Amino acid sequence: MSVYQQLGVEPIINASGMVTRLGGAFMPPEVLQAFERASRETVPLEQLQAAASKRIAAATDADAGLVTSGAAAALTLGTAAILSRLDPGRMERLPNSSGMANEFLIAREQRSGYDHAVRAAGAVLVEVGFNEMVAGAGVRRTEAWEYEAAITPQTAGIVYVQTADSRPSLREVVAVAHEHDLPVLVDAAGEVPPRSGLTEPTAAGADLTAYSGGKGIRGPQTTGILCGRRDLIASAALQMLDMDDHPELWDPPSEWIDRSRLPGPPRHGIGRGFKVSKEEIVALLTALDLFTSGAYDKQLDACRGRLAAISVGLTDAGMNCHTVEPAASDQWPVLEVEVDAARRGKSAMEVCRQLREGKPPVYVGHAGLPAGLLVINPVCLTDESVDVLIERLIDVIGS
Ligand SMILES: *Cc1c(COP(=O)(O)O)cnc(C)c1O
Repeated sequence: MSVYQQLGVEPIINASGMVTRLGGAFMPPEVLQAFERASRETVPLEQLQAAASKRIAAATDADAGLVTSGAAAALTLGTAAILSRLDPGRMERLPNSSGMANEFLIAREQRSGYDHAVRAAGAVLVEVGFNEMVAGAGVRRTEAWEYEAAITPQTAGIVYVQTADSRPSLREVVAVAHEHDLPVLVDAAGEVPPRSGLTEPTAAGADLTAYSGGKGIRGPQTTGILCGRRDLIASAALQMLDMDDHPELWDPPSEWIDRSRLPGPPRHGIGRGFKVSKEEIVALLTALDLFTSGAYDKQLDACRGRLAAISVGLTDAGMNCHTVEPAASDQWPVLEVEVDAARRGKSAMEVCRQLREGKPPVYVGHAGLPAGLLVINPVCLTDESVDVLIERLIDVIGS
């Protein structure tokens, strides 16, 4: 019996991919072994995080890095770092940011539930641009001049959400920001793979970039990465680490946190609740190594094979589906399955619900439901689950 069944929870077939709601990526055996080995010895966390910083810097081309408890935590810590820099008085006051430049510009079209993570540190979001395409009122996206026009003495920085379709480009936004000496904090949580996603924001001039550790990197679900400028990473680290040490004894690795720039050690900061364990740090670094070395590419053929089998099974049963090819060679394709509501007598939404409610529960990608599409993502499927998945799809769509 599975550990989940022992708890009375039924394991599902995950055809949605590495989504947080469903527990994220499967960790490779190497990652789990590293986690277990890390649990057998003890190290000071600031030394471990300083070592992690070097590995993250090498993987991202940034100056420094920090293992966080997820991309959302990285956004909160990055915001806190931009607001307080190396001023322990400010660190102490957050999320009360009154008296500081505390406004972060964000394109209206880039706002989402994740911007809560930025506001949580005390930032006030100031929207720029419009969302005319979604409003059906125009063809224009946010433009770089709109950021520039919104800058005031109260502006602390710019938040930018990186996707393949983000406009204006990060480079253009960075040019405006740096002209005014403002840092840019980038949310690139799910932008890996491709592997190039790990270096592109920094190459484009981002001052801080946030990634999820438990999506494409396949580390623990509870990890993330913040990478970027050394002074800002030091500030973020100071606001996350446990700071209960004697000032006379506190000795953080100097290449990572330059003590001489601080009047004294700050106390626990706004990120103290986002702690990351030594096991999680080691596991994440192991996953990062696997990811950057291209080890996951070996599984792409298996992903394609699973989708091909599903496609044949569904087509034989009279259904329409087609493969959507990825943009980069180190990403996987997905399969879109059409639900013709008129012919089937039920909508894609209803099919999705019945798939979740049956046995075993099946969770498909739901972004295409309004267009009548179920999206099958192969990356969290197992070979054993493919036949059952085909059966359940035929059963629910066809019945
Ligand atoms: C997943 C995601 C996050 C949150 O990442 P966690 O690692 O789960 O905290 C933030 N922003 C975007 C765009 C994401 O896709």
